[in-house]
Amino acid sequence: MTGFASLPPVAAAGPAHDELEVLQDIHGVLAGERFALLTGAGLSTDSGIPDYRGPGAAPRAPMTYQEFVAEPENRQRYWARNHIGWSELRRADPNEGHAAAARLEHRGLLTGLITQNVDRLHEDAGSINVVDLHGRFDQVVCLACHRRYSRGLLAGVLEELNPGFLERALAAGVVEMAPDADATVEDGGLIKGFVVAHCPACGGTLKPDFVYFGENVPKDRVERCYAMVDRAGALLVAGSSLTVMSGLRFVRHAAKQGKPVVIINRGQTRGDQLATIKLHAGVSGALTWLAAELPPL
Ligand SMILES: [Zn+2]
Repeated sequence: MTGFASLPPVAAAGPAHDELEVLQDIHGVLAGERFALLTGAGLSTDSGIPDYRGPGAAPRAPMTYQEFVAEPENRQRYWARNHIGWSELRRADPNEGHAAAARLEHRGLLTGLITQNVDRLHEDAGSINVVDLHGRFDQVVCLACHRRYSRGLLAGVLEELNPGFLERALAAGVVEMAPDADATVEDGGLIKGFVVAHCPACGGTLKPDFVYFGENVPKDRVERCYAMVDRAGALLVAGSSLTVMSGLRFVRHAAKQGKPVVIINRGQTRGDQLATIKLHAGVSGALTWLAAELPPL
């Protein structure tokens, strides 16, 4: 295996000199404002969760919603990989960036937090007003009756249905771990024997409760995010390349309202042209600095 679970959270270093200058500009834009915070995978990399779009990320084609519902074999492959991925991902701890985001909220500086991450680390760190834009990995939903179940309880059911699977899969080698608890396994034969679980209430198809590629974010969830931006004086994006429209639209929304957009990300983003200030940096250190330096409201 990759040693994923043994990666310690990386301590955020203090900002370098040129970073500090940009941070002071960001301070000038955000001081005195309540702002909306939009976070992505770059925030969780310091918790050992890989970013599948960041610099150096391996090319990867996640299963689409249409593929998932079309074939039982696809669901079998998906659940087998998710079973492995979940067993690793659930052990991740929030890092200093998550802690800083929670401090920003507790000091009254945020109108809300929108995260594209499904790992629930913001909630673990103490953030309260969070929209999990792309859903949450710790729940599953029945596609037939829409009941939701704990992923942790499902893990026990999958264990009973597939005794010894996890040990054999990890011994076979986990090649890649993805932020949505998907894992790539080399041994196809192992996956062919995997038994999936069904909804205990109606026997329907269970799916992790997050938004797949090819699936829309629920409308009420999007509206909650727009409302956070509407109430804000600015938008701060941290650790997202804004590759998908589900996050980029909030940048466009803020820009259209003439509100400053600040982007902190390692690498380019699709929102860079709309940014008032862009800082190329890791997000843990930058958010920690901002949470310490911005005056309370
Ligand atoms: Zn059901």
